[in-house]
Amino acid sequence: MKVKVAINGYGTIGKRVADAISLQPDMEVAGVTKTKPDFDAKMAVKKGYKLYAAIPERVKVFEEAGIEVHGTVEELLENVDLVVDCSPNKVGAQNKPLYEKLGIKAIFQGGEKKDVADVSFNAIANFEKAVGKRFVRVVSCNTTGLTRLIYTIKKSFSIGKVRATMIRRVVDPKEDKKGLVNGIEPNPIKLPSHHGPDVQSVLPDVNIVTTAFKVPTTLMHVHSVAIELQDSVSEDAVREVLAAEPRIMLINSGDGFTSTAKVIEFARELRMRYDLYENAVWADSIGIVDGELYVTQAINQESIVVPENIDAIRAMLELKNKEESIKETNRTLKIGV
Ligand code: NAP
Repeated sequence: MKVKVAINGYGTIGKRVADAISLQPDMEVAGVTKTKPDFDAKMAVKKGYKLYAAIPERVKVFEEAGIEVHGTVEELLENVDLVVDCSPNKVGAQNKPLYEKLGIKAIFQGGEKKDVADVSFNAIANFEKAVGKRFVRVVSCNTTGLTRLIYTIKKSFSIGKVRATMIRRVVDPKEDKKGLVNGIEPNPIKLPSHHGPDVQSVLPDVNIVTTAFKVPTTLMHVHSVAIELQDSVSEDAVREVLAAEPRIMLINSGDGFTSTAKVIEFARELRMRYDLYENAVWADSIGIVDGELYVTQAINQESIVVPENIDAIRAMLELKNKEESIKETNRTLKIGV
């Protein structure tokens, strides 16, 4: 028997999570929601997903547009085991009372404040904390990337303070209404950026300060990370530890990975929609100076949280333990091959 999962908000993250669920042997997509009858709504129907109106009054709008709609979000949620809320930033918190009323489990995304859920989640760092939980928040793309990297290093070596700078893609490729055409925006200008405290929502004992800047690109974020090492460690030992984690992909500038443009060109060959679920860490950026590890990584914002959502579903519905779940997600999404 497969568990039934609803996707409330079939946008950038929602459509990817829906497709990833469809690849799992133990879960299925019960339906997806939209507010607008646009090409994404039509494509969802074409792919075989049952479409529902995220805003009840809009059922009529879909019908008028000639798009088959199965009812309202509330009707969808009546027959599911769990909902993955992929609605826009802050809308998830507004949807929460509905999930409470219907008594169903819900996963929220990183655009929500951490108090929306009992647990802020990253599969490799704290899978166990989400086991059986009612509400879980999968942290944002940047926080997922930072958490995976820091957790993997911390598991093998004793670390001190972490400092990281995020060079952030300004918007997603589809967002033609907003953007930064020519400039670099310190975002935020004041210390710290929210990413450090957000990492601490998963890894509370990490001493981390982050700054962030938005730049005019849509492909990926880049992180420049410095981690104090408390013991004497070699650069090769760090590379070995990172290479052993399937959700981290080591790349080399010598292979032509000279920028995020090249990482995405590689991902275009590898996966549908150039989804890169792994942190792309430049192996040749790894350097240790005065006991401090420096490393640069690139993060595909649209897809990195997708495997985390799948593992969060398994933890909350107690379908598999951490190792089994991560292994299954990696296998089905071809992570680490
Ligand atoms: P998005 O592309 O704008 O998609 C949002 C979806 O929610 C759309 O399908 C929209 O439908 C639907 N929606 C609108 N109002 C709704 C409502 N009241 N209830 C339910 N659904 C509603 O947003 P996104 O980029 O996927 O972001 C979703 C969440 O993931 C946010 O919390 C964000 O911070 C987080 N996140 C985003 C990224 C990223 O880089 N994109 C990365 C990691 C995490 P219509 O289009 O029909 O209005």
